[in-house]
Amino acid sequence: MRVVSPLLASLRRCFDAFPDSRKGVRPESQYAMADFGMAAFSVFFMQSPSFLAHQTRMEEGCGRSNGATLFGLAKIPCDSSIRSQLDPARPAMLHPVFADLMTEIERTDGLAAFRRLGEHVLIALDGTEYHNSYKIHCPQCSKRERGNGKTEYFHSMLAATIVAPGSNKVIPLEPEFIAPQDGAVKQDSEIAAGKRWLKTHGARYSRLHPIYLGDDLFAHQPFCEEVRANGGHFLFTCKPTTHTLIQEYIAGAELATHEEKLKRGKKRVTHRYRWLCDVPLRDGKDALHVNWFEIEIVDAAGKVTYRNSFITNLPVTKETVAELAECGRARWKIENEAFNVIKTKGYNVEHNFGHGKENLSCILVTLNLLAFAFHTACDLRDELWRRVRAKLSTRRRFFGDLVAITTYLIFSSWTELLETLAFERPPPRPP
Ligand SMILES: [Zn+2]
Repeated sequence: MRVVSPLLASLRRCFDAFPDSRKGVRPESQYAMADFGMAAFSVFFMQSPSFLAHQTRMEEGCGRSNGATLFGLAKIPCDSSIRSQLDPARPAMLHPVFADLMTEIERTDGLAAFRRLGEHVLIALDGTEYHNSYKIHCPQCSKRERGNGKTEYFHSMLAATIVAPGSNKVIPLEPEFIAPQDGAVKQDSEIAAGKRWLKTHGARYSRLHPIYLGDDLFAHQPFCEEVRANGGHFLFTCKPTTHTLIQEYIAGAELATHEEKLKRGKKRVTHRYRWLCDVPLRDGKDALHVNWFEIEIVDAAGKVTYRNSFITNLPVTKETVAELAECGRARWKIENEAFNVIKTKGYNVEHNFGHGKENLSCILVTLNLLAFAFHTACDLRDELWRRVRAKLSTRRRFFGDLVAITTYLIFSSWTELLETLAFERPPPRPP
């Protein structure tokens, strides 16, 4: 496991630095701080809420378990101590793992498959809610009054995700949480979180020549300027209803056009592009000038089946407009590939360890994203992992077999476990 072992080591280093709230000699003291974090992470990585329960049983019956051999747990802590030990830590303490993961992917040239429009990499920014409830809440929850007179509590974050049209892989980057900010008068927002994200990570990721993708919400001057100031480019959806000035310019100008006829299976479609360069994004002398373009997809009967428009700082020409539109449209991938996976594929963020009083909810969702990122890194760069995935064909079967086999057998290493799953060596003898 050339990829996962260094990543697990990087994660353990972060957990080692977590604040230790334990006082005096208590039963928990047989654990290192990192054991609590690695235990929580193991559940997300194995995609099994019962992984720790099985390993505890194995530890009790056989004196050792896969918790130790695969995740380095000296002993498996119980749910409630995991919860209380992780709660006070700041989620940003886990950011170095995202950086190490990117370094690992870049080192092995894993980003090549994500390069678009020449040397650029697309980073989609999108907000998502990952908890909402009338009952369960913590002091860090955002809240809103509902029409029924009840207060609804929720947590949301701005996710930043590397995407590429034509690729079903996405790489999650550091999340920025949308939460009540210390000393702030206004409720936090997706845009404010986006600006914080750029200030914290933008300069570091400028080495990827990033093009930031986002919905219409981001397509305004202050945010576009922030992207440029941090060495990035922007390609944002631009709705006619919220950008009336641009609409006036388009209405009064002769637009450049381009058309491509394509075959989609048996169907023939036409992609029609129109664009106008150097349009002011707002009124006033200091207005930022951007390039606007639109794509329409027309079916064989001449009916428009899709229409969207975008603004960008990148040059729009007959040569680039089709790929720009394809990249702009790749933003939905964050919804489909990233959010769907972390919300519906059994990572069990909420019900496993609960909600906490300080940061637990943010820590768990960050670990969830990291598990997803680790899986992606393995899918991209780990030969042995890829061989197993190919043999077990579906994601469900892969994780199902992974959990089943580790419930009854102890593996001395990830390599032994995966070689067994790949039918390349016999399973170890039962403990
Ligand atoms: Zn909360």
